[in-house]
Amino acid sequence: MDLSTLRVDFPLIAGRPDLVYLDSAATSQKPRRVIESLKRFYETLNANVHRGAYRLSAEATEAYEEARKRLARFLNANPQEIVFVRNTTEAMNLVAYAWGLRNLKEGDEVLVTEMEHHAGLVPWHLVAGLTGARIRAIPLTEEGRLDLSALDTLLTERVKVVSVVHMSNVLGTINPVAEIARRAKEVGALVVVDGAQSAPHLPVNVKALGADFFALSGHKMLGPTGAGVL
Ligand code: PMP
Repeated sequence: MDLSTLRVDFPLIAGRPDLVYLDSAATSQKPRRVIESLKRFYETLNANVHRGAYRLSAEATEAYEEARKRLARFLNANPQEIVFVRNTTEAMNLVAYAWGLRNLKEGDEVLVTEMEHHAGLVPWHLVAGLTGARIRAIPLTEEGRLDLSALDTLLTERVKVVSVVHMSNVLGTINPVAEIARRAKEVGALVVVDGAQSAPHLPVNVKALGADFFALSGHKMLGPTGAGVL
């Protein structure tokens, strides 16, 4: 990898040879193409999407739907499954409030892990408080991996949702989501995956993972801030 060539693609660092940016997991810098394509949209295509009966609106709608198709290909999902949100936090809240609030009740359990980001934890805690459901967590081993042996006791018919982070933002651990999802399905639980760190770093195939919901943030993967996907 030739770093000096890569730097040219990022206007913010290209213009500042003194700057070494090491916080991409928190938010990535934006390549020229992304900045230019945002500018191009506002300068040439901006119009009401899906709500206007005139040419510019139809073109904006087409561009918007093309983005949906690309995201679907990127995740191996179907285009109609792509929900645009602002970021992972909003996606997780959407699942917890739209699905959880309506379907969880006292006696139900939501299974998370001890390595969740707050974005994957707080929405479930709040919705549990409103519904009477209980939160339980898959513990970690000494090496910072999920202790899957705990699933034998944790994964019961009471568990209605298993919500796991695909790649830890703290440890870098890649969790065996496909295996966890397979076990979750055996007890009829929905599988929610926080892909904020995995989508930028790994090929993601939501079907192979067995994810019912998968969340990502555009701003962590070279995209614009304020554009995410559920
Ligand atoms: N989950 C993980 C694993 C993260 O690393 C982050 C961001 N640090 C989030 C969720 C939240 O992402 P956002 O702020 O884009 O909603």
